[in-house]
Amino acid sequence: MKYKTDVVIIGGGAAGMAAAYSATREGADVILLERDEDTGGVLNQCIHNGFGLHYFKKDLTGPEFKELAKERIKDLNILYGTYVLEVTKDKRIIFVDRRGIHEIETKALVMATGARERHFNSLPVPGKRITGVFTAGLAQRFINLENLKPGNKAVILGSGDIGLIMARRLTLEGIKVEAVLEIMPYPGGLERNIQQCLRDFNIPLYLSHTVTAIEGEKRLEKVIASQVDYKWNPIPGTEKVFDVDMLITSVGLIPSTKPVDFVDADPGFLVSNTNQTSEDWIFAAGNCTVIFDLVDFVAKEGEKAGKYAALYAQGKYEKKKLIKVRKGENIGIVHPVYIDPTEESTLYIRVSTVFEKASIKINPLGIEKVEEDARPPEMIVVKIRPFDGENIDEIEVTADELISKLG
Ligand SMILES: Cc1cc2nc3c(=O)[nH]c(=O)nc-3n(C[C@H](O)[C@H](O)[C@H](O)COP(=O)(O)OP(=O)(O)OC[C@H]3O[C@@H](n4cnc5c(N)ncnc54)[C@H](O)[C@@H]3O)c2cc1C
Repeated sequence: MKYKTDVVIIGGGAAGMAAAYSATREGADVILLERDEDTGGVLNQCIHNGFGLHYFKKDLTGPEFKELAKERIKDLNILYGTYVLEVTKDKRIIFVDRRGIHEIETKALVMATGARERHFNSLPVPGKRITGVFTAGLAQRFINLENLKPGNKAVILGSGDIGLIMARRLTLEGIKVEAVLEIMPYPGGLERNIQQCLRDFNIPLYLSHTVTAIEGEKRLEKVIASQVDYKWNPIPGTEKVFDVDMLITSVGLIPSTKPVDFVDADPGFLVSNTNQTSEDWIFAAGNCTVIFDLVDFVAKEGEKAGKYAALYAQGKYEKKKLIKVRKGENIGIVHPVYIDPTEESTLYIRVSTVFEKASIKINPLGIEKVEEDARPPEMIVVKIRPFDGENIDEIEVTADELISKLG
């Protein structure tokens, strides 16, 4: 079958649903393609609360957030069970479903394909690849959606939010969590999750520790962990042996950019403040650009991508002069990486080290934001109004410690 539309959105998670909502509100014809049988993406398996505090001004679970977002697009043309095979440079989207292969001719595209989990097999850990090693997302799916208990005793590798939330979830399901291991000298997740998911349940967190071997015949029997030095080399004599039948890995998410391979990405799509990519007609939002800690940010970015994609399709927005945003000293991540100065910007910033009181500077715009207890996992948000960018070629973001400077 052949379709024609203004805006195609690939992926119906938080970003894709928000993009569909705003693109439709701008008066565009929209088709949303989702490979699952429902929208929501990762929200569907996150049955804990903490979603939507900023976006819907309510403390919601993942599925509740999904329902509210879905309600706003109830009249939309959503094609479920569709998998996008190819996006061509001449604006055709080729996808497959149970009825065969189809094609859409579009004016603009929003990529909202989310992220995938980094797998244990990609880590240099010796030992057989035996049963009992699960990614956190897979374990979450088994427990929350399929009512399966994947084991009895676990070690969790990685203290990002997903690892922390799974520590609590496993404990509530009667699975003993012996330890959470983190290779960095500081926790990888939000402070509220350290408190609510580990301290409240007396689960030990070992910082500067990693898994150095796994043992077992058919099923995992032991996880061996060691302390690491500042170069992440295991320190001999620090080994700890955990007798467990499960290792849950939460070692990072990788933005999913497939099947679009002709757009600049590193590793997620590189976008401007209007969510436009290096291809004028392709916009992107959510975890396929950068890994966000809060769904609220993902949804806001999705809305923006949908809006500008609709305006582009209607000939009301085109690419202007873009200013590069550069990571300066002590900055781990800045998103987006380009700014169209004629439009508003929201910068999402992660520092690369822990600060008691960080001074975040955006120059030459002369903007400063002071952030107490700034830590790499938490995103710092800075809004920038439209400005005259005529004589600016580059913007640099830096972070400095204020406490030590004063003291
Ligand atoms: C365990 C966990 C706990 C979290 N806890 C919180 C929390 O407490 N509070 C909070 O605010 N945030 C939390 N988050 C973060 C938040 O849920 C995510 O950042 C957000 O939901 C990601 O949305 P997304 O749309 O970018 O991606 P996804 O939800 O991954 O959606 C991508 C969609 O694209 C579809 N897709 C991908 N490729 C294709 C293709 N080729 N064709 C068709 N469809 C495709 C997928 O099926 C999926 O539906 C958590 C995340 C996780 C994983």
